[in-house]
Amino acid sequence: MTLELTDPVTALPGVGGVTARRLADGLGIRTVEELLRHYPRTYHDAGEVLDVAEVAEGEPATLIGEVRRWTGRRVPPRGRRRRSLDLLEGEVRQASGNVFRVTYFNQSFRRQRLPEGSVVAFSGVVKRFRHELQLAAPEAQLLGRVADDVDPDAAARRLEHQRLLAVYPATEGVTSFALSELVEAALAGIGPLGDWVDPSILDEEGLVDLDTAIRCIHRPRDHAERRTARRRLAFDELFGLQLGVQWRRVRLEAETVGLDNAPVDGGAAEAFLKVLPFPPTAAQRRAFDELGGDLASQRAMHRLLQGDVGSGKTLVAVWAMLCAVDNGRQAALMAPTAVLAEQHHRTLTELLAPLGVNVLDGLRVELLTSATPVAQRRRILGSLTSGEVDLIVGTHALLEEGVRFADLGVTVIDEQHRFGVAQRVTLMEKSADAATTTTPDVLVMTATPIPRSLALTVYGDLDVTVLDELPPGRQPVVTALITPEEHGRRARVYDFVRREAAQGRRAFVVCPFVDPSDVADGTAVVDEHARLADGEFSEVGVALVHGRMTPAEKDAAMTAFRTGEAAVLVATTVVEVGVDVPEATMILIEDAERFGVSQLHQLRGRVGRGTDRSYCVLFAGWSGPLADDARRRLEVVAANSDGFALAEADLELRGEGQLFGRAQSGITDLRLARLSRDRDLVAATRRIAARILATDPGLDDPVHAGLKSEVLRRYEDDLDALGALETG
Ligand code: ADP
Ligand code: MG
Repeated sequence: MTLELTDPVTALPGVGGVTARRLADGLGIRTVEELLRHYPRTYHDAGEVLDVAEVAEGEPATLIGEVRRWTGRRVPPRGRRRRSLDLLEGEVRQASGNVFRVTYFNQSFRRQRLPEGSVVAFSGVVKRFRHELQLAAPEAQLLGRVADDVDPDAAARRLEHQRLLAVYPATEGVTSFALSELVEAALAGIGPLGDWVDPSILDEEGLVDLDTAIRCIHRPRDHAERRTARRRLAFDELFGLQLGVQWRRVRLEAETVGLDNAPVDGGAAEAFLKVLPFPPTAAQRRAFDELGGDLASQRAMHRLLQGDVGSGKTLVAVWAMLCAVDNGRQAALMAPTAVLAEQHHRTLTELLAPLGVNVLDGLRVELLTSATPVAQRRRILGSLTSGEVDLIVGTHALLEEGVRFADLGVTVIDEQHRFGVAQRVTLMEKSADAATTTTPDVLVMTATPIPRSLALTVYGDLDVTVLDELPPGRQPVVTALITPEEHGRRARVYDFVRREAAQGRRAFVVCPFVDPSDVADGTAVVDEHARLADGEFSEVGVALVHGRMTPAEKDAAMTAFRTGEAAVLVATTVVEVGVDVPEATMILIEDAERFGVSQLHQLRGRVGRGTDRSYCVLFAGWSGPLADDARRRLEVVAANSDGFALAEADLELRGEGQLFGRAQSGITDLRLARLSRDRDLVAATRRIAARILATDPGLDDPVHAGLKSEVLRRYEDDLDALGALETG
């Protein structure tokens, strides 16, 4: 039988329409290739091939024997089990004459697959049940029929070399066992698989060829072979990803010209640094150097500025924006929420006040959000297009139709992970003169510390600058986890808040939900506000802010908190990013188990911005039982104040797939590769992709045909989004 990778699964023996539909619906497997790319979920240790007389209880073992008899019966519901079970018991006789028993629940199909008279290798952990050794739900491999004269010794010798049995993600009507048989047939029928990666690269990285890798991932003889196969296939995933992101960038650079936004002697950027009330940190100075190089270059800047909360990213962003102004251009800062945009606008106005803002001969700074009144919006848009506005801060509103810049020089995007690549591109296209092919310099800021391995992958098309230093005088936030077992500590926390409030300090109280009707169990911000305002904090003033309030209401609440009129702000995660109130020294997080590690760290970053000692209290388990893994996550947050260390821990706890959604395409394609484990492969693939693209930017060389078709296959959608830029 000769199979092609592109053949439908129905080309495999025994696969009819029903199975094909189940494979397609349940597992997305339509072709032989998709079947072979359906990797085992885990491997079952088949143990040694033994006779039941030699078996040690509790150890994995493979027992070969002839199925003598199957008996099925129904086990009625009992105790908490509400449904009855189909129990299938098999009696198996070995070459020695010894007999053992195998049992399966709700797997009656085994009876047809392994009919009486067949010789089967059963692998599992041997248990004693009512004085009898038995295998419960063992993996089974059909070796042949007694009638065909199967030699158990020869079978045993063959199996000695295959101790690991693949266990596949299964679906309704297609078991792991069935998949295993299909894969077996596919591997037998298919010729050697061609490789898309050049042998010289494989040699360089010590990787096996694709054919070996695919065969061994399904049928490893031992763990070493399994590891070798996994490594090669993980390499492929990461290599494809790196080629994709870097190719995207190369194309962008090839078809657009950057602007010279070099810092100007005696310009506003320089003046800005002179009037700062504090010296920049060493990390900030390094960032000025790195950005300065990009800004001056004819290549458009695509840089990620990463830094823990409070590391002073805003300052760096403002400096870059002023470089645009010094070159007679405009700059835009886009934030993910209106609260954050308003905050940035206020910060910018304050920081730039010494240079003169919105005064004659000063800088013109504007704010544009969906809350901007229509008349004002019209006025702002007019002066953006005419070039009167120097700096604009805004939300998604900046992306809308009708927003046109006279000459956009620098774009800063805060909190990139909330925007997609396509939006980044849209903002880059916002120059009024559609005929120009120049691209503004782009700086992406993120306060979500991303482990380097992840940054190099997710943001493979960006250069990375890290602010790895906090301004002097910052103290780590003291973090405590309080569960209902320590009931009394809650009252003491409230006591402490009241005392701190009396000293002019402030506290955030964060709840996961807005409205009680949103959840069955959990703390709603509206309830919590009422409870605290009438009770614990009736004396100190309590404000409320959440996403369903009008902008004016939000603004009033934030002002009350900022001025100290309210010492406590009860909020949803709208305070997560960027809200800067130096007097805030405490943050109390209700239902902390509902938040992710990096989100909690972000929230915690709202305090500890001044020089006073600050505190974060994580209340968890108060609205329902606290799961072990949730408790572990919270303990990690409490124990670590460094955002990067936390991000690494989070990556290990949750895996990258959960950290980034669909917007960061590519990451979700990783099936075997793990960024936390495969750092060396991440670095290697990045290096190799860069080397190849340096000599063949279009991947047009016939030797790169395999790479090109792979990249196109994976990233066609993304490239379409970028197509808008190229044709625009
Ligand atoms: P991030 O955006 O990285 O969380 P910010 O830019 O908001 O941090 O800065 C946090 C606080 O630190 C702000 O109040 C800012 O004025 C202050 N800050 C920034 N840089 C310095 C510095 N070099 N020295 C002292 N304070 C600084
Ligand atoms: Mg900030």
